[in-house]
Amino acid sequence: MKVFKFGGASVKDAEGVKNLVSVVKQSDEQNLVVVVSAMGKMTNQLEKVVDGYLLKNNELTGSLQDFEEFHLTIMKPLFDANHEVYKKTSNLLSVLKEFLQSNKSTNRAYVYDQIVGFGELMSTTIVSNYLNENGIRNTWLDARKCIVTDANFRDANVDWDTTQKAINEQVTVKGITVTQGFLGAESTNNFTVTLGREGSDYTAAIFAYCLNASNVTIWKDVPGVLNADPRYFQNTTLLHHISYREAIELAFYGASVIHPKTLQPLQRKEIPLFVKSFYDPTSAGTCVGKGVQIDPQVSCFILKRKQVLLSLSSLDFSFMMESHIGDVFKWLHHYKMKVEMIQNSAISFSVVVDNKYDNLGPLITKLRSIFRVTWNENVTLYTIRRASNVEIEQLEKDKTVLLKQQSRETVQLVIKE
Ligand code: ASP
Ligand code: MG
Repeated sequence: MKVFKFGGASVKDAEGVKNLVSVVKQSDEQNLVVVVSAMGKMTNQLEKVVDGYLLKNNELTGSLQDFEEFHLTIMKPLFDANHEVYKKTSNLLSVLKEFLQSNKSTNRAYVYDQIVGFGELMSTTIVSNYLNENGIRNTWLDARKCIVTDANFRDANVDWDTTQKAINEQVTVKGITVTQGFLGAESTNNFTVTLGREGSDYTAAIFAYCLNASNVTIWKDVPGVLNADPRYFQNTTLLHHISYREAIELAFYGASVIHPKTLQPLQRKEIPLFVKSFYDPTSAGTCVGKGVQIDPQVSCFILKRKQVLLSLSSLDFSFMMESHIGDVFKWLHHYKMKVEMIQNSAISFSVVVDNKYDNLGPLITKLRSIFRVTWNENVTLYTIRRASNVEIEQLEKDKTVLLKQQSRETVQLVIKE
């Protein structure tokens, strides 16, 4: 049993769906779980629907219509006009519209998950039907029957025991199963939850773990894991092999190729993870697994944009002690700020956070009641693994470095944009 994961970019148009079929065909795998994300940028599109809906903005209908039309454009070249897939996708849309009409909740995270999940439900319906059309018999599986979580909407935590049982009941080890990335259901009311943006890789890892898969392949529009993001750096190098540990570090610092949570379950069972190009399915790509830390031995550059640097000092110039810092963390946690880097001196404490859930305003108001607070928005956090001094100097050149931290293997720079 193997697990394949296809992200939104791989199924952004009809050509992409055809290509997915040819990748599955070429692989010649008989027993496979295929995890698929929402097509193209459809999760972003649904996020707009959420905003329009909650703000009672009339553009709502517009953006839902765009969502519908986007999928129709993909389906038309793939299926005959009377194919049953049209009925299935329009049923999905009816369920979504029904939710929009009947829902009374104003809990944004809950509403978000009930709406946003339809991207994956649509994509898997289309992919599953198109695989069938091409002679690849498969079962469409509702991931919400498998991935059981708590009710932490938008970033749900997996209940591993229940999920393990559910997956073993739902997935037949023989044959091909197509299922949604990113989705689960919470255990109390079975409401849809999501596992955090870009969470489909994690879904692939959960299935692989529970089914003892022999490996996982993430199919991407890049040749594998590179030592730097080609959008920001020239002369990137393809990594042939990285250890789980190194991959976890890179993902933690923000390397966007692999979702950070993905690696832990795989590492526990030593299931190799391949990252390969869906344009070039027979080339080796990158293997994350047991063995050497990194091959070839190169420095890795990771960049996280739009971070916030907060600098706090005590109002009375007393030292920033454990209790102060404890308070800071309590509020960072409360406002769901992801902490990227910390540094303290006698009377000040600096922290770089990712304002993922748009809570900066209330956080600052809270912190200001306890500390003197200054902050810089839109800073970029560079993390460099195993860099030489020359490489660091080069990176610093012509930039305003607000904060710098160096450990044996890692240098981090906070740069003002
Ligand atoms: N469709 C979701 C997202 O865009 C999950 C994923 O792509 O992994 O965040
Ligand atoms: Mg996506």
